[in-house]
Amino acid sequence: MIEAKNLKKVYRTGELDLEVIKDFSLKIDKGEFISLIGPSGSGKSTVLNMLGCLDTPTSGSLNINGEEITTFDKTKLANFRGEHIGFIFQSFNLIPVLSVYENIEYPLIMIQNLPEDERKRRVLNLLEEVDMIDQKDKFPDQISGGQQQRVAIARALVTKPQIVFADEPTANLDSKTANAVIELMKKIQKEHNTTFIFATHDEKIVSKVNRLISIVDGNIEEDRRV
Ligand code: ADP
Ligand code: MG
Repeated sequence: MIEAKNLKKVYRTGELDLEVIKDFSLKIDKGEFISLIGPSGSGKSTVLNMLGCLDTPTSGSLNINGEEITTFDKTKLANFRGEHIGFIFQSFNLIPVLSVYENIEYPLIMIQNLPEDERKRRVLNLLEEVDMIDQKDKFPDQISGGQQQRVAIARALVTKPQIVFADEPTANLDSKTANAVIELMKKIQKEHNTTFIFATHDEKIVSKVNRLISIVDGNIEEDRRV
């Protein structure tokens, strides 16, 4: 479902070109629970952002669900992302002026022709699934970090994406909360066969995935099924 071939990413910072990803090729199948690991600065987020269509490679080919997305313009890429991909961030990134309910509903507002009752049904289902139904009218600053991340997971899933990317999703959580959040994602992967791709150093995640890709200096050092 994802096939990256010879991806390269060069950041242009003033005079200097920084080649962060050199030659990255990888195939990922539907339903995999997989993590990119590697030292800080090795390029994990850069790879995740490219695979997740938040950023474009400098060169190389990236095929997702049969579409060569490197040929897409910005609008097409944003629409494709909205339809196929969910993202979870380290710092939750909830919208502070929206309630828990509205944060989860937000990505659905972008989808045209989705009836209001279907929208409501999906948000309520996810509120149940992440166990936040009794907190639905609170605002992000009124709930804990673990609860915020559960809302962020619900928000990532509400569009029914086939692929979810999570960049250090447990880094701002205590270990008990982190474990609960990982279990929740694992449950969703099992129930819906959603593909999860993490970037993390967190041993708690590393011990739960089916495959580890280690990145060193912008190259895949090891690709190991566990
Ligand atoms: P990781 O997630 O593994 O810590 P990153 O992908 O964030 O690594 O960063 C890899 C390298 O690219 C680092 O040296 C970082 O400073 C650099 N980098 C990341 N984003 C940018 C950017 N937007 N512009 C310039 N350099 C960047
Ligand atoms: Mg990173």
